[in-house]
Amino acid sequence: MNITIIGTGYVGLVTGTCLADIGNSVCCLDIDPAKIATLNSGGVPIHEPGLGALIQSNVEAGRLRFTTDVAEAVAFGDIQFIAVGTPPDEDGSADLQYVLAAARNIGRFISDFKVVVDKSTVPVGTADKVRAAIQAELDARGAPQGASFSVVSNPEFLKEGAAVDDFMRPDRIVLGVDATAEGQRALALMRQLYLPFNRNHERTRVMDVKSAEFTKYAANAMLATRISFMNELANLADQVGADIELVRQGIGSDPRIGYSFLYAGTGYGGSCFPKDVQALVRTAGEHGQRLRVLEAVEAVNHDQKQVVVNKVLARYGTNLTGRRFALWGLAFKPNTDDMRDAPSRVLIQALLRAGASLHAHDPVATAEARRVLALDFADAPDCLARIQFADKPLDALTGAEALIIMTEWKPYRSPNFTAMKAAMAAPVIFDGRNVYEPELVAAAGFQYHGIGRNSHAS
Ligand code: NAD
Repeated sequence: MNITIIGTGYVGLVTGTCLADIGNSVCCLDIDPAKIATLNSGGVPIHEPGLGALIQSNVEAGRLRFTTDVAEAVAFGDIQFIAVGTPPDEDGSADLQYVLAAARNIGRFISDFKVVVDKSTVPVGTADKVRAAIQAELDARGAPQGASFSVVSNPEFLKEGAAVDDFMRPDRIVLGVDATAEGQRALALMRQLYLPFNRNHERTRVMDVKSAEFTKYAANAMLATRISFMNELANLADQVGADIELVRQGIGSDPRIGYSFLYAGTGYGGSCFPKDVQALVRTAGEHGQRLRVLEAVEAVNHDQKQVVVNKVLARYGTNLTGRRFALWGLAFKPNTDDMRDAPSRVLIQALLRAGASLHAHDPVATAEARRVLALDFADAPDCLARIQFADKPLDALTGAEALIIMTEWKPYRSPNFTAMKAAMAAPVIFDGRNVYEPELVAAAGFQYHGIGRNSHAS
């Protein structure tokens, strides 16, 4: 099948590459010429394990290409995936300007039947707006003969850091279609497209468009709720002297609860949970309803991003001038270079503005961190000058009064504690991701501050 992907970011690039890899011909469109130039010269603009090799083999096989030419891209695909960003607007609702611009471009250039797929995470009712935007362009063109379309909702559930695997082995494929003849024609094409992913067992869930749009928000809202729930309990565990990690294992053994997404830490970040929780709360508001659970989830997460900052300030005082800390982990989670809403940014803001110096390490996100921090500190370049970046984790520790861990990257899990202690000015660890076993770290001579693990505080 011929497929067009509009928006070549984390979702669009993975979707396009994986669909090419199963034999489709894929044309990826983006409005960012730098991104397309990078891809056309063999580079990969994001860090996603396994993606680079897959892009290369599919480009070489002639199944995958990249362009900024809207007319060419829209003319190409029988199926047009809209995978552009839906960042939060000022009031928390999803900003649909990129989705609707993509829709208008489709309307400008289609000349036959197209399936238009909303892959971006969009509020309930967006498919209607996409349909109206395309139709308005068609009407402006005098309704050219043969040009028709159907809008399908096909939300994406991949996780950054495991995106290729998630796309290739999805838990479910949600398809929201309308009941018209064109909707059923679109459904037949979508079923055909996803057939290779259903060989082992049927993963497709067909539903109406609005339920499909809602499903994506409900999934992210549920996961965010688990995290905030556990973080709030972790803070209480710190007060009462319990160990939240033992509590997690104790409750996770109940199959109704399970172990996943119950790790206490410094709050959720990234490009999805924060904006999707906000957008769902906002959608409810537009319908005169409050989602009180999700309002609390968001408020708890906001405060949780300060939890390590508060521990550091409680230990060293609010003026950190002349103090030097090591920071391991910048990305919002391991295996990605994505810094969108990363909790590390909140910590860096607070500590640099309190006068501290930071020496940071991240296996892949340093370049992206430099880019976003330059924006975060546009008003305070003198503060920004006090953060340095190390190539190796151990290098960041030299002369540090404490190590702060903000991302649970694998290389941080079993470090050489003896070498670490020798490099540091003082053996103190603030573990924002509960990476270490407190007894083990204490036995290595460190003072340990985890999240919800004060029962071990030395
Ligand atoms: P992204 O910011 O990485 O990529 C979006 C891309 O779209 C950018 O390259 C941008 O230049 C391009 N773009 C914007 N307007 C365009 C237009 N009119 N035509 C062509 N290209 C255009 O975003 P992302 O992280 O891939 O997310 C895309 C959508 O998927 C969002 O709605 C997001 O919520 C959703 N989603 C993201 C993830 C994730 O893990 N990142 C997972 C599931 C769903």
